[in-house]
Amino acid sequence: MTQRLLSFEKSVPGRRSAVVPPLDVPMPELPRAFARQSDLPLPQLCELDVSRHYKQLADCAYGVNSGFYPLGSCTMKYNPAVNEAAAALPGFQQAHPLAPEEATRGCRAAMAELERDLCEVTGMDAFTLQPAAGAHGELTGLLLIKAYHEARGDSRRVRMLVPDSAHGTNPASAAMAGYTVVSVRSRADGCVDLDHLRSLLGDDVAGIMLTNPNTLGLFERDILTISELVHGAGGLLYYDGANLNAILGLARPGDMGFDVTHLNLHKTFATPHGGGGPGSGPVGVKAALKPFLPVTASAGAADGLQVKAFYGNFSVMLKALCYLKVLGGDGLAQAGRHAVLNANYLLHRLRQAGYAPAYDQPCMHEFVLCLEAIKHETGVSALDVAKAMIDHGIHPPTMYFPLIVHEALMFEPTETEDQATLERVADIMKEILSQARSDPQSLHEAPHNAPIGRPDEVKAAREPVLKYQPERP
Ligand SMILES: *Cc1c(COP(=O)(O)O)cnc(C)c1O
Repeated sequence: MTQRLLSFEKSVPGRRSAVVPPLDVPMPELPRAFARQSDLPLPQLCELDVSRHYKQLADCAYGVNSGFYPLGSCTMKYNPAVNEAAAALPGFQQAHPLAPEEATRGCRAAMAELERDLCEVTGMDAFTLQPAAGAHGELTGLLLIKAYHEARGDSRRVRMLVPDSAHGTNPASAAMAGYTVVSVRSRADGCVDLDHLRSLLGDDVAGIMLTNPNTLGLFERDILTISELVHGAGGLLYYDGANLNAILGLARPGDMGFDVTHLNLHKTFATPHGGGGPGSGPVGVKAALKPFLPVTASAGAADGLQVKAFYGNFSVMLKALCYLKVLGGDGLAQAGRHAVLNANYLLHRLRQAGYAPAYDQPCMHEFVLCLEAIKHETGVSALDVAKAMIDHGIHPPTMYFPLIVHEALMFEPTETEDQATLERVADIMKEILSQARSDPQSLHEAPHNAPIGRPDEVKAAREPVLKYQPERP
């Protein structure tokens, strides 16, 4: 069954939404060159059809407000509505980026306050709010590291170390910043292999990019040693802040030895994401890198280096500021603790349900399952299980990431889910596993209840069909 989702497919010849009164003035003659020579192929619908059409499309979208959304490495937490209300205040919303300075003092004070709060949360000395996303923050941060080394006349540092478990944006950003990417191996316990790291260090190493907890949801316990080693070799430490939620209010990258960090305000600091919308990837630095930082609100006017127009995505900053103020220091720490507790609880229940963690140890805010044994036994893959979850009304977790785990499913429940939800999810996962054993074919064909089942992902990426092609008569 394919649902008709396009307005063109719902068109009924002759249907109209508006009835225009008959013309009671002379009809002007349009010059032929400007007049359309054939009918415009628009969908023909009445107003109720149109209303239902958009409601149907809206119902196809799945968000945190629809249900459980454990997309690992994305922190799909509930975003309180009060943040939206604060960002929508007319004094903020109607501010113009070119308005004179004296007319935007409040806006700039809000940004400067956010910069200060982010310094406090991360242990950094200064922040710029300009970058538009995490990846943009990475590029900005790496260019700062580059500027720092060059200003010291240290131009031989061409290599950037990146663990093999890293998010794909890390090596991509390092390459864009002009660095040669060098992969650091993970040990059997999922953390950075210190011996391999030692063997890679030298006076051509500009730095290392790390996220802590790492993309396996494990805390890099050797972070202080890593910091000592890399700094000892003259390199700097870059913190990918996408996983800050786990240590929010509890530990700070600045205290672990990191020199530069980006944050994903649209993950940790409660801006909805996943569907497009603007993001924000502020970059914080230690004092030694402050001279190279692009525009900051704390420093006053929007002069200085730009990595984006004006100050960045202002509404996202306001939501983050509101979130920080509502929670306060204790509330942030509680969010961090609950994120870790929820992940460990779900990990425990999934282990009981018959799933194997990729690394059998307590996790931080997320964990990775390895379904290789299940695939071997039943033929059902991580992809099949993820698709089956859709039929149960929950969003699939992140799949096939990090790349070092085979048949990976990466769950991040976040602190905003309650115990009953986690229990229900564990029950659903148990049911899917027993179905994998009794009727694997039905899982290969899942989802059965979604408007789109199994698109050809390669074809969809290579030959996207982004607009409707009417059939020409
Ligand atoms: C999401 C993510 C990024 C990239 O952030 P964007 O805001 O999506 O550009 C980088 N690293 C990790 C670990 C992430 O989860």
